[in-house]
Amino acid sequence: TLSGKTAVITGSNSGIGLGVAHELARAGADVVLNSFTDTDEDHKLAEDLGREHGVTARYIKADMSKPDACRALVEKAGACDILVNNAGIQHIAPIDEFPLEKWDAIIAINLSSAFHTTAAALPLMRKAGWGRIVNIASAHGLTASPYKAAYVAAKHGIVGLTKVTALETAREPITANAICPGYVLTPLVEAQIPDTMEKYGMDRDEVIEKVMLERQPSKEFATVEQMGGTAVFLCSDAAAQITGTTISVDGGWTAL
Ligand code: NAD
Repeated sequence: TLSGKTAVITGSNSGIGLGVAHELARAGADVVLNSFTDTDEDHKLAEDLGREHGVTARYIKADMSKPDACRALVEKAGACDILVNNAGIQHIAPIDEFPLEKWDAIIAINLSSAFHTTAAALPLMRKAGWGRIVNIASAHGLTASPYKAAYVAAKHGIVGLTKVTALETAREPITANAICPGYVLTPLVEAQIPDTMEKYGMDRDEVIEKVMLERQPSKEFATVEQMGGTAVFLCSDAAAQITGTTISVDGGWTAL
């Protein structure tokens, strides 16, 4: 059980982050939800999650594209036994047309934010004598696809950061690993469907079957609950010697 532990999950008012927060809370952890907005719904999400699982749940606004805000999130959380770096965005365009501001935003949110939160969390984990860092990378942290230059670069980068974090904490009761999901039907993936339809001249079903799930041999989307369950496993005693590695939850994508 994770009771008494505090988990900070970046980018967790939606999709995989919210799913991971639910599974960590189900396992007993107190959770801090985060995104860059600060709406009544954001706070209600935390309230409902806390009530559902009988844990303390808070929502803290912090924009993961800003280094100071990343560090402030961990400081405001006060404790950070489990850090899940999940915030991420996507943009699809060929390299020679890739908007500079999209490149910068993806590198900042999908990669640099994890460096900043990790830097702020490690002293807290060391003080607590225990820590788990779970970076949500992607099958695109291990393989590439066209038109996703910034995303693939950031996800390969976060796999590298995970390895360095593991080596720097290897003699301590702290682990750092990356989960590499295949396609999960979240708002991030929904948003890619129209662009991909246009790029390939296909309808929605064809994009799902022939483009998205083309490389996912199971021919099924993975789920946010499966990502959460994998995170809970990485926080368990059974995973204490698992560090500096990736766990693919991708229906066989990386076996192809
Ligand atoms: P999503 O769009 O549902 O969730 C992304 C989350 O990040 C949201 O909560 C959003 O508010 C937050 N976010 C975006 N910009 C932010 C910012 N500047 N500051 C703070 N929070 C911010 O998408 P998702 O599919 O759940 O993606 C979550 C993570 O999983 C991402 O890192 C993504 O790359 C990764 N991933 C997703 C898939 C998939 O198929 N859905 C596959 C592999 C990896």
